[in-house]
Amino acid sequence: MNLQPFVEGVRKTKLIYYEDSYLRKFKAKVFKFYREKKHDSYIALDRTAFHPKSGGQPSDKGYIWGEGFKLRVKKCILYHNVVVHYGKIIEGDSCPEDVTGEIDWDWRYLLMRRHTAGHLFDYCLSIVCGKPVETLDSWLGDPCYVGYKGAAPSENELKEAERLENEFIEEGRPVSIEYVSFKELLKISPEAPNIFRLPKLRRYRIVRIEGFQPIPCGGTHLKNIKEIGRFKVIKATQIDDSFKVYYDVF
Ligand SMILES: [Zn+2]
Repeated sequence: MNLQPFVEGVRKTKLIYYEDSYLRKFKAKVFKFYREKKHDSYIALDRTAFHPKSGGQPSDKGYIWGEGFKLRVKKCILYHNVVVHYGKIIEGDSCPEDVTGEIDWDWRYLLMRRHTAGHLFDYCLSIVCGKPVETLDSWLGDPCYVGYKGAAPSENELKEAERLENEFIEEGRPVSIEYVSFKELLKISPEAPNIFRLPKLRRYRIVRIEGFQPIPCGGTHLKNIKEIGRFKVIKATQIDDSFKVYYDVF
């Protein structure tokens, strides 16, 4: 569906997962509801805990319901600052004004563990390779990977980075979020690989794993790297002047 007419006149969605990535259930007001076919529907809310597909993070799934109504949310799309929740109606015909949303926590928590593990791996790989690594992209769905610039590390270096990561995880370190200006960002995170690719903003959201240089990131993180569990490198592949490290958490 063309989302342009749907979001026209709809106010920006408040992204409440930015403040609390552990929020599973929330109350919201419906700004717009559109039923496309018999069951396929679109909902825009004033606020949402559903993370849309963005960057390397796949969309959240879950349910939105209210009096006499229930929608199974299959995916969320961020379109002109509006999170559009798309799904199938499983109860009722029309959408009430007040609804409750609940994200599929098992799926989200896995993404949070994979995401935080990816950040930690950047640091571990940098330590093992003796120089900062430059991240290019990432994907937290299946299969999960981080892409880097340059030549792939050796088998031994990957094994050592994996061992180091598991050592840090076992030890545990808090993960925190801060908001800073671009000037402050340059000062505290001069080596962040994406720093000059960032859009111009008044404030930048940065993530800090205690003891490591913070980097700008809008994703959903764990409170402590301890929650990652066991980290495992699956394989590394070289493509021209870049490589991907496939990994997972258990
Ligand atoms: Zn992040």
